Amino acid sequence: MSDCLFCKIAAGEIPSNKVYEDEVCFAFYDIAPQAPSHFLVIPKEHIASVSAISADNSAIVAHIFEVIAKITKEKGIESYRVVSNIGEQAGQSVPHLHFHVLSGRDMTWPPG
Ligand code: AMP
Repeated sequence: MSDCLFCKIAAGEIPSNKVYEDEVCFAFYDIAPQAPSHFLVIPKEHIASVSAISADNSAIVAHIFEVIAKITKEKGIESYRVVSNIGEQAGQSVPHLHFHVLSGRDMTWPPG
């Protein structure tokens, strides 16, 4: 999508601190980290949020979770939280599907 921040980051049109990239997804460190390690994993294809996942694109999401397992394993991250905010009330500020991967500090449950 031409006017989407994360589409531009995935395309390399806006710089980011890249963690991982393949033909399907892109991972980069969050600009405002909420934990000692905080990166985002996004599909290269524009998907607005979890609410837009369907049988047509769910293979992309499965791949993203494989990539999360791979990146965390490679980085020696054993305990972490994966979060996706959907909609304004939940705190979604960028309307392009993304999974936050947070680690390196104690976390509370339930989240605030
Ligand atoms: P959410 O609020 O769940 O939609 O998450 C969006 C995340 O994107 C926030 O944690 C922001 O800090 C992060 N973010 C926004 N712009 C950038 C950017 N240019 N590079 C890296 N992370 C960003």
